[in-house]
Amino acid sequence: NAKEQGGAAFTGYDQQMYQRLSSRIQLESDIKEAIRLQQFYLVLQPQVELSTGRLVGFEALLRWLHPQRGIVTPDEFIGVLENSPQMVELGYWVFRRSFELVLQLINQGYRHIRISINLSAGQFLDPLLPQVLQGLLDEFGLPANHFELELTERTLVKNIDTTLQMMRQLKGMGFCFAIDDFGTGYSSLSYLKQMPVDIIKIDKSFVFGMLENDADYQIIVSTIAMVQKLELTVVAEGVENRAQLQLLKKHKCDIGQGYYFARPLNDEQLQQFLTEHVPDGFLRLT
Ligand code: C2E
Ligand code: MG
Ligand code: MG
Ligand code: MG
Repeated sequence: NAKEQGGAAFTGYDQQMYQRLSSRIQLESDIKEAIRLQQFYLVLQPQVELSTGRLVGFEALLRWLHPQRGIVTPDEFIGVLENSPQMVELGYWVFRRSFELVLQLINQGYRHIRISINLSAGQFLDPLLPQVLQGLLDEFGLPANHFELELTERTLVKNIDTTLQMMRQLKGMGFCFAIDDFGTGYSSLSYLKQMPVDIIKIDKSFVFGMLENDADYQIIVSTIAMVQKLELTVVAEGVENRAQLQLLKKHKCDIGQGYYFARPLNDEQLQQFLTEHVPDGFLRLT
């Protein structure tokens, strides 16, 4: 009867809710444990100045070596964790590891190297963030200009006032800011004006399409032109082939990042990449 049907539907809904909730709780406790067991690591993806081939820095990308699931990429857990205390904790771990890597690279002779770090929305609401970062700067004896903090338009619009205030504070400490996945979010161009932003990263979906799709191509060209007019730096992510690279160079895109230069590299791959392809700070592609 109707009552049973209604009841069954409700139970089904309940179950789904329960599963979603419990897998979230499971994931959150897994993450805590994974930090303790050191199952996380960072891979670094090179960023290259297109006019010269100079290696300007790396983006730090998180990986989780899960004992059962193997290598888990951030898309599988960052979304679920956003705004959770676990994400803040994991974020602290990412910062610390990035500081270690910058120090290591400087000691290897890459004196001007910069690492860009992705932050999720919750991290910008963490009142301890400036203090934690200042602690790391002091502990490692590094100036903040070796670090670039990436946020997406989505992160920005979520809590515009708090986020802007946090950005200004961190900017005052010497960190620089990049807007990631530019063009895919909902932010209006007027935000760009009020934000202490240094770098715009054009989303890889536009780069993927730029050779075949005229709309993608026009978006790329006009974004580059706009960013240049605002006297900011423009980065293209997702550069996978030579034709994309040539076209981006032609339109004076400052920096490129993508599989054409290198995939995100683990510690061992990083060392191999540096000796094989960056003998003097400039990228040689073989
Ligand atoms: P993102 O910040 O936009 O990073 C770029 C993504 O594009 C990375 O995916 C990278 O591996 C991938 N990629 C780079 N070049 C190419 C290319 O030429 N072709 C293709 N197909 N893909 C390319 P990944 O490593 O899976 O990271 C996904 C997203 O997870 C990142 O997107 C970022 O939003 C987030 N993320 C990664 N690490 C962290 C972290 O430490 N903290 C936070 N909050 N988010 C992170
Ligand atoms: Mg990024
Ligand atoms: Mg991106
Ligand atoms: Mg992304």
